[in-house]
Amino acid sequence: MGKSSILSRVIAETNSEFSVSATTRDPRPGEVEGRDYVYLSRPEFEDRIASESVLEWAEYGGNLYGTLREQVLPALDAGRNIILDIENEGAKQIKASFPEAVLIFIRPPSLSVLEDRLRGRGDTHEADIQRRLSVADQQMREAPLVYHHIVLNDDMESAIDRFLDILTARTTDRVSA
Ligand code: 5GP
Repeated sequence: MGKSSILSRVIAETNSEFSVSATTRDPRPGEVEGRDYVYLSRPEFEDRIASESVLEWAEYGGNLYGTLREQVLPALDAGRNIILDIENEGAKQIKASFPEAVLIFIRPPSLSVLEDRLRGRGDTHEADIQRRLSVADQQMREAPLVYHHIVLNDDMESAIDRFLDILTARTTDRVSA
């Protein structure tokens, strides 16, 4: 099982909120506007960047993705935990602007397992799969320099346990500054 299944469980068990990102990619079958993403055209997304209504953004696999200010700041102001599911470039930007953020990389056990998962999802074109694998490879190599913790997603239940342990222990067992 993939990253989003882990995050759903972690969010439920810690009573955290999920930051619904904006993206220019098309919705996948079953995805819901406002729950999975806020789907924007590229000009709409660029307007959000210009008006500084995104806290970070990055291009991934040919599409733009960004964290909406309105998703995160009210939750933080209310003293709630908020979980962002973002790639490395965005993680670096969040690390710089929110030094208290805990950065956790969920690592697929191998690229071939990731490839099987992407194919199993059955909703991604072959060219996208190849592009995503190559980006994932590069993200995995860079992860130790960016993230505070790395959780190997070999078995979903143990990955959830390790993720929850990190959130409970907070900053005590970081692998990088
Ligand atoms: P997907 O298209 O599979 O939903 O997401 C592709 C990648 O974009 C994932 O690695 C996901 O973590 C990342 N992503 C999703 N939302 C955001 C965001 O708001 N900002 C950044 N930087 N990356 C995001």
